Amino acid sequence: MNRFEEFTTRIVQQVGKKEGAISPVMVNSASFGYGNCESGEGIFDGSVKKPLYARVGNPTSAQLEQILASMDGGIGAVVASTGMGAIAMATLSLLKSGDEIISIGGLFGGTYSYFTETLARFGITTHFFDVDELAGIEEAINTATKIIFLESVGNPNMRLPDISKIAQIANAHGIVLIVDNTCTPLSVAPIALGSDIVVYSTTKIITGNASALGGAVIYRAISEGEDKLKGDRYRDIHPFIKKMGAMALIGVAKKRALRDFGMSANGFGSYLTMLGLETLPLRLDRIVTTVETVVCALQERGFNVNHPSLAAHPHHERYRSQFANGCGSIFTIDMGSKERAFEFLNRSKLITITANIGDSRTLGLHMASTIYRDFDDQTKEFLGITAGLIRISIGLESAEAIIDDFANAAKI
Ligand SMILES: *Cc1c(COP(=O)(O)O)cnc(C)c1O
Repeated sequence: MNRFEEFTTRIVQQVGKKEGAISPVMVNSASFGYGNCESGEGIFDGSVKKPLYARVGNPTSAQLEQILASMDGGIGAVVASTGMGAIAMATLSLLKSGDEIISIGGLFGGTYSYFTETLARFGITTHFFDVDELAGIEEAINTATKIIFLESVGNPNMRLPDISKIAQIANAHGIVLIVDNTCTPLSVAPIALGSDIVVYSTTKIITGNASALGGAVIYRAISEGEDKLKGDRYRDIHPFIKKMGAMALIGVAKKRALRDFGMSANGFGSYLTMLGLETLPLRLDRIVTTVETVVCALQERGFNVNHPSLAAHPHHERYRSQFANGCGSIFTIDMGSKERAFEFLNRSKLITITANIGDSRTLGLHMASTIYRDFDDQTKEFLGITAGLIRISIGLESAEAIIDDFANAAKI
């Protein structure tokens, strides 16, 4: 049985319509007529649910938002132009100068630079921890801490967090937990595990074929009773809670991020994302199975492979218990040196050399010469970037074809 059977049924039904055009209706208009002034007033005060202006909402994107919110059990979602746009939306709408972030695991290069270079220029400090440094994380929490940020899978270090445990810490201290679930949609359910906000780069496996850049932020509902967001730490969003109740975080994102920064998705991008999304459960099931087969075979042939499905990986037990549906499409191979890594990638007939992940095709990239080229040695060591490290993202090709190609490319 498909690991994602429930989603296989649900998502195709949500993307296609029963009457009229089956494929999602694509709206590309930048602005929308209000008909009359009364309706215009209602659209602006929120009492009339019609499009206002495409920077703050587009009907095609709204369909994608509904599907993504239901996929993750959120009360709503806001889609963005890119994954970085989604991360900027989720963080900037909550932060002010003087605030602090605790960043755990990972970390995707773009997010790392955003925290250390860009947010730092605006007086926001980020503290970095490995997924298992729980005591250090608790010690680093103080009154300025606004966000705990976590990647569901270390990319490219392949370390796995105990998400429930980290969510317990965040909740005990009344701090918002944001999970970047880009690598593990459907397989990991961050909101069910106790997180508040989920971010995605939909550019990756959700769309799955390099046809559209995109991002998404999924928000949990604000509780009617007690809620950490009603505490003093988040007092500047209390007016939103008063006005919008359970939906408050959607308002925060739309007013503080889309309206003021404009990282908005466009109708065409959202349309392509839905076409990709409807086959995600099928693609992911196949890819996760192929990853397990390939890493096992490569290890047997003497490759230095890093993936938590392998018994020697420090998080193998966690992989089996908490990541039973796999941890996405990526793993790494350490070829020992830059020269050997280049030779392997250049000799492979199957690997497409690119910085993307989660594609229908198998992708590969030498880490130190590309994404991490500007990082100092100490940071590279923290992130697990060695001289010969290659990141692989498995596609839809047959496991046998991939194993044969890799063995040929490495002359094994
Ligand atoms: C790619 C990626 C991003 C950024 O997404 P873009 O769509 O390229 O802006 C963020 N987080 C993770 C884990 C990613 O892999």
